[in-house]
This record gives sequence, structure tokens and C-alpha cells, in this order.
Amino acid sequence: MTFKSVNPATGETLAEFPALTPADIERRLALAANAAPRWRRTPVIERAAVVRRLGVLLESDKARLGRMMTLEMGKPIGAAIEEAAKCATACAHYAEHGPGYVADQMVDDEAHRSWVAYDPLGVVLAVMPWNFPFWQAIRFIAPALVAGNVGLLKHASNVPQCALELEGLLRRAGAPEGVFQTLLVGSDAVEGLIADARVAAVTLTGSEGAGRSVAAAAGRHLKPSVLELGGSDAFIVMPSAELERAIVTAVKARTINNGQSCIAAKRFIVHRDVYDRFLAGFTGGMQGLRVGHPIDPGTQLGPLATPKLAEELEEQVARSVALGARLVCGGKRRAPDGAWFPATVLTNIPPNAPAYVDELFGPVGCVFSARDLDDAVRIANDTRFGLGASVWTANGAEQERFARELDAGTVFVNDMVVSDPRFPFGGVKSSGYGRELSNLGMREFTNIKTVRVRMGAGASHSGNTE
Ligand code: NAP
Repeated sequence: MTFKSVNPATGETLAEFPALTPADIERRLALAANAAPRWRRTPVIERAAVVRRLGVLLESDKARLGRMMTLEMGKPIGAAIEEAAKCATACAHYAEHGPGYVADQMVDDEAHRSWVAYDPLGVVLAVMPWNFPFWQAIRFIAPALVAGNVGLLKHASNVPQCALELEGLLRRAGAPEGVFQTLLVGSDAVEGLIADARVAAVTLTGSEGAGRSVAAAAGRHLKPSVLELGGSDAFIVMPSAELERAIVTAVKARTINNGQSCIAAKRFIVHRDVYDRFLAGFTGGMQGLRVGHPIDPGTQLGPLATPKLAEELEEQVARSVALGARLVCGGKRRAPDGAWFPATVLTNIPPNAPAYVDELFGPVGCVFSARDLDDAVRIANDTRFGLGASVWTANGAEQERFARELDAGTVFVNDMVVSDPRFPFGGVKSSGYGRELSNLGMREFTNIKTVRVRMGAGASHSGNTE
């Protein structure tokens, strides 16, 4: 088996890499297990220094790394360079704040000394997607390594160059051998890795299907897991919203990364008083995007990452239209076997259509009309996903109600949803469980340990309760 790096804009094969053999995997697991106790005893400040240097490398090399992402999975070059820069920011964040996030917390009780410690778990397996090939991996690597864990990365099969580059960057940043390794293996190897006694925990960012498999395997082997899965985020527009800014942001929020972001706005739920104006502006904005080769700095919309993804999306749109949805624009691939999918707008979507029920992972905006706030909340929550939501209203009482009533891990008001290392990130319902980023995300892969030290012959607590 080999891993191919294919430029989705041209179909050209850029490079091929052999998959690891079972003996290679064994060697790497042994290296990781060997590195774990030494890394754990390395002072947190030294671990943070490695992550700080990683950030410096990412920032100084962002043009080359951006180009690598663009050629391998098709995201527009400007966004790719920004992604590398954002990774650098996350590394700087965890280098500075990470040691504090996992510092002992003293507890004032009757014992001589008591504290809560955040110990590393050991070797953590990360199964990652291709859509943000550096960002998704870094938001695991930076906190996990500063916390004292050792990382194994099983990246998506279509981004082997980015996957190998990450291992190289960590070594250049000074990570000792075995502290972070990329495993070029297929998804069929994941269960075996989770089962291995040397692997302590697993985190997956990806689709629901992959989430189910990983969660089941983690359950079978009683290993902690974090799942960051799909989303069908609502973007709600109320009459008091600044409509022009909402429309421009809606187009950006739907088409960021060629529409392939878990927190892209996917369902536009618009109050009926402003529906017609929103739909006209949004459709115009979608049709006006500059489509082109993603390596061209002027491009706003490039191809999807693979022809298969474009085919699936085309099918979801076609089935939705067959069930009664109205196709306002787009909907068909440029070439029947290609990865290029146009900006598409759907309205009048019935509740049984894929566009209502499933995640559409590409530049397809689904626009709904809502009678009032209650109706907007109802439509927004009428999904099995719960990742993010963006709400547009100038009314403080409405802002408050949306913030409280939307089933989502993140609610942004008058802005598009973005991830930020200072805030926890994750979802509810079928969008997964656990959190990444912030102090909370960092603690997912720690053993939160209670320590009480008694000295002398003082009174002890009753031992009658658990
Ligand atoms: P995917 O097909 O699920 O792949 C993600 C990773 O899981 C890849 O490394 C893949 O390996 C592996 N994988 C797939 N099936 C597996 C299985 N049965 N067992 C173990 N591992 C498995 O997802 P994708 O197409 O790369 O990414 C898109 C999805 O990720 C979307 O649903 C998106 O919303 C979601 N996502 C979520 C977040 C978040 O933070 N919540 C962020 C980004 C993306 P192979 O490539 O070898 O198949």
C-alpha cells in the first residue's frame, strides 16, 4: 500500500510514500513508549520551549508550508499561509500559558498539604483529517506535548506530505526522538493502535463514521477519547442585523477552505422580514466568488480535496432537489469526474432531504426562512449536530436567548465562528465530545490526580464513605 499526494486542482500525482509495515509500526510504538517516561520527567518549561520553537519554525516557514497544503489538498494559498501562522500562534499560546494550565492546584484542607495535579497520560494517538492539515494536528500537538504526553499522528491518507512535514518540524524544534511521530498507516490500523497497551488515549477529528469506529474501539479497550466530528452550523439572521455585513460574512463563512470546514456556516436561517434581501445578496456573493487555481493568490474558491468528495456532494444536492428543494445556483461539477464544485445555493429544503439532515462538506449554502426567534431556534436545533452557531442581531435580549438556547459548543454573535486557542472548542450531540484548545482542552489528556499529604498523628477523616 502507498499513500499518494495528488494535487486536486490538476489531478497530478505529486509524490508517493510507502505505508509502514507491521515491523515499522512496532518500532515506532516502542520508540514512543520509550520516550514517554523521559518526556514526562522533562521540566514543563523545557517541553514548552520545544513547542515555542515549533511555533517560530511554523511562522518563519509559512510560505513553503502554505504551498505544500495548497498543492496537496487544494485550499487557497492565502488561507493556507494563514493556517501555518495560526498554528504558530497556538504554539506560542501553549508555550506561554500551558505550564500554568497544568500546574498543581493547591487545596486548602485539613491535611498538611493537598493539591490537584495534572499528570500526562503517556502515548496519545491522534487521528486527523485533511481539511486543515496543519491546524488540526497542531491543536493536538501543542497542548498534548507541553502537558508531557507523547504523540502519534495517523493523518488522513491524502495528506502524507503534510503529515511527514509535521514530524520533521518537531524534530527541528528539538523534540527528542519518539516524542512525536507520524505513522503512515491506513484507517484499518487504527483499532490495533488503540488496543495496544502502550497507547493510553486517542483523539479523532473527522467524520461521524470514523468517530463511531474510534469511540467503539476506545470503549472496547477502556481508553479515554476525544471526538471532534462534523457540523451543520446555523447562521441566523434577525431583522435588526447589520444585513450587508451579515451577507458578506455569510458567503465567507460558507466558502472558507472551499466549503470544507467543520465550523463553516452551513444552514442560513433568516427571519422572513429580511429573507428576500438576504437571499439575493447571498446568492450574488456566492456567484461572484473568484474561482481559480488555489495557488493563485486571487482565488477565493478552489476545488474540493478529492473528486470523490465532489461526487458525494453533487449527489447530496441532486437528492435534495429530487425531494423538492429549489436549486438557486450551482449544483453540478465542472467536469463529471473532477474535484471542482461550484458555489451552490438551495432553498425550500424539506426535512427529509440530505441538505436538511446531513453535513454538506463543500460550498453549498442552505437557506431557510424563520417566522420569529422561536422558529429560528427550532430550525437551528433540528439537527443531530451541535458544533457552532453564528447569530446576527443587534437586540440584546435576542442575543441572550440565542446564546442560551442553541445546542452548540460555540455561539458567536455578529461574527462568524472561528477557533481560538484561548477558548474551548468542541461539540455536542453527533458533533462529538470532549474539548480541544484552552486550559480545558489541554486537560483532556491528563490524569487529574488528587494528592493529600498527612504529617504527624492528626485526626483522620472517616473512611466510611467512598
Ligand atoms: P474522515 O474520513 O472521517 O477522516 C478523518 C480521519 O479519520 C482520517 O485520518 C481517516 O483516515 C480516519 N478514519 C476514517 N475512517 C476511519 C475509521 N473507520 N476508523 C479509524 N479512522 C478512520 O474525515 P475527513 O473527510 O478527513 O474530514 C472531514 C470531516 O471531519 C467532516 O465531517 C468535518 O466536519 C470533520 N471535522 C471536524 C472538526 C472538528 O473540530 N469538529 C474539524 C475538522 C473536520 P483515512 O484518511 O486513512 O481514511
